[in-house]
Amino acid sequence: MFTSPMATFDGTTLLVAGGMGFIGSNFIRHIRAKYPKANIVNFDKLTYSGNRDNLKDFAKDKKYTFVKGDVADAKAIARVFTKFKPDFVINFAAETHVDRSIHVGALEFIRTNVEGVFHLLEAVKKHGATKYVQVSTDEVYGALPLEGDSLFTETTPFAPNVPYASTKAGGDLLCRAYHSTWGVPVVVTHCSNNYGPYQYPEKIIPFFVTRMIEGKKLPLYGDGKHVRDWIHVQDHAEALELCLLHGEPGAVYNIGADQELDNRDIAHRILAHFGKDHSWIEYVADRPGHDRRYAIDSSRIQSELGWKPRRDFEEAFVSTIVWYTKNSAWVERVRARTGVFNPHIDLWHAHEQKPLKKSTGVTKKSAVKRKK
Ligand code: NAD
Repeated sequence: MFTSPMATFDGTTLLVAGGMGFIGSNFIRHIRAKYPKANIVNFDKLTYSGNRDNLKDFAKDKKYTFVKGDVADAKAIARVFTKFKPDFVINFAAETHVDRSIHVGALEFIRTNVEGVFHLLEAVKKHGATKYVQVSTDEVYGALPLEGDSLFTETTPFAPNVPYASTKAGGDLLCRAYHSTWGVPVVVTHCSNNYGPYQYPEKIIPFFVTRMIEGKKLPLYGDGKHVRDWIHVQDHAEALELCLLHGEPGAVYNIGADQELDNRDIAHRILAHFGKDHSWIEYVADRPGHDRRYAIDSSRIQSELGWKPRRDFEEAFVSTIVWYTKNSAWVERVRARTGVFNPHIDLWHAHEQKPLKKSTGVTKKSAVKRKK
């Protein structure tokens, strides 16, 4: 196990790119609770999914600084490295919604998820840092068959099926190259689907809870038999903490909780919570390139870094539903700011609920129009 010369974040400066989003803001909360003397710099562009509300209680924290900026802007990155001289860098900044990468377009995904990673790596190469962690996804590995119990390992070849995943793979490969070529101390992580508080309500769990609160049916893509391995965001944050402090430079770690559920299971659990039956599900046209199953072998991070998922799924899932019901004002502020949560569902309803053709014909222009 690589042991950082600094085995704590206290007294160090941690640069968190994309810290106003779902996982980044939960990660910052986790670090602050555990390391009160850490200096945290949150560098975020505040895109539609970046939400100041997620960390509004940090306004009075003297060791926390927010800098609005774009990871694809080399000058802004250089300024932040020169000013704050971070010891540790972790990158959550990304365009993250698969549906948007299909229906709205992939250009922003390429800019942020590939070009942004390039600028961060260049800055770490130039200014130095103890560790750079690139937060990535299991989606880079493509799909597993529904049948059988095969798992993604760290050596599974990349086979991304949607633009989002291919841009994440591009960023990850740059990380590999910067370590091999220049010895930049990079760790790449591939995590499965996260759930928990502060997730932008385009993603399935907050989206479904919001629909239930509004008295609307739950839309399921295709046959609903798309399996994901669900992990609580706090477990993910703990894994990332260990990767920053003790991850082997150049290493890749898969992170998952062995909690496989298909989208029907997710819908049924949410319906049960609200006392509704299965007639509250509507099946909508499937998403193009919709991967069947993701499942993670996380034995490497467990054996090498001593991490394991600690949350009980049944309990944590219900408390997540409860969080969104209790924080409907948070959801409403997001809606007031950004409008449409899910362009795919919106499109399906706009087409009078007829199945979508493989190519949806949705252009950036028409998606924006609908938002107005
Ligand atoms: P999110 O969409 O909630 O947050 C992304 C954040 O990045 C936002 O605050 C946004 O403003 C910021 N951002 C976007 N473009 C930027 C840019 N050009 N410059 C600076 N900031 C920018 O996403 P999330 O769910 O928190 O995901 C965080 C990371 O974790 C992503 O890299 C994602 O690929 C990865 N990941 C997510 C999951 C999941 O289930 N959500 C699972 C595995 C991996």
